[in-house]
Amino acid sequence: MLCKKCFTQSIEAKVRATITRYHMLNFDDHLAVAVSGGKDSLSLLNILAKLKRYRPKTTLTAVTIDEGIKGYRDEALEIAAANCQKLEIPHHIVSFRDLYGLTLDELVQKARKKGQTQLTACAYCGVLRRRAINVGARQVKANKIATAHTLDDEVQTILMNILRGDIARLSKEKPVTSDAHPLLVRKIKPFCEIPEKESALYAYVRKIAFQDMPCSYAGEAFRNDVRSMLNRMEEKHVGTKFTVLKVMERLRPAIEQTAKKEDFKTCVLCGEPSALDLCKTCELLGHGR
Ligand code: SF4
Repeated sequence: MLCKKCFTQSIEAKVRATITRYHMLNFDDHLAVAVSGGKDSLSLLNILAKLKRYRPKTTLTAVTIDEGIKGYRDEALEIAAANCQKLEIPHHIVSFRDLYGLTLDELVQKARKKGQTQLTACAYCGVLRRRAINVGARQVKANKIATAHTLDDEVQTILMNILRGDIARLSKEKPVTSDAHPLLVRKIKPFCEIPEKESALYAYVRKIAFQDMPCSYAGEAFRNDVRSMLNRMEEKHVGTKFTVLKVMERLRPAIEQTAKKEDFKTCVLCGEPSALDLCKTCELLGHGR
């Protein structure tokens, strides 16, 4: 059993090792750190802030997406802002309302009124938030986005893409994304080998204030079913999640060959990167109908 100091040092060392192994950072990178206000993103922000002390030419800007989820996001925004102030890191907020003209709550309500119930709030949120983070990173002139996807998140995403049969996404989701489009900011995931439990413990041990209230839409997510299944497997067969991550790494070159033809294009309506002529964001917002 490690003492608190040794535990935090071991997590920080693991993150540094991941960054080195995947060649995530250059000495003069400007990182847009995606900060939701939850334990994982704030643990990451704190670790990157520590790392920056030894990399004076690295710049950090926290980017928070305000989806407009009543009773949830306001608290997270305050917590994210307070952490950024404490760490003296600039904080940039991108709201769905500014970017898309309506909040996630309004979008979900509108869809339900029209009887479009096949998509969950998370299905809208995932697509629109990915776009918003990319736009936010460009607004602050960052050359990379750092996200706090943990080992759990990564393995859940791998299984979700397999279960959906989405080979293109399966090949694109990786610890460091490729330069697939000039407007797509490269993403790095320094927590991809850190289990969620360790990231949470790091936040508790370092006494980092974070939001622990779940989003009101969280119960609808397909991810929840996959998470429960993986947690049951991990409990019975320790190391399952890490094995899935490592197997995926070995299979990725072959999967990339299969998915090669699905390169990024430019959306005919908004000009943003897209897998098809019309991007998923425009499709979900009902543009072009
Ligand atoms: Fe968005 Fe769903 Fe996460 Fe809520 S639980 S923030 S709706 S993805």
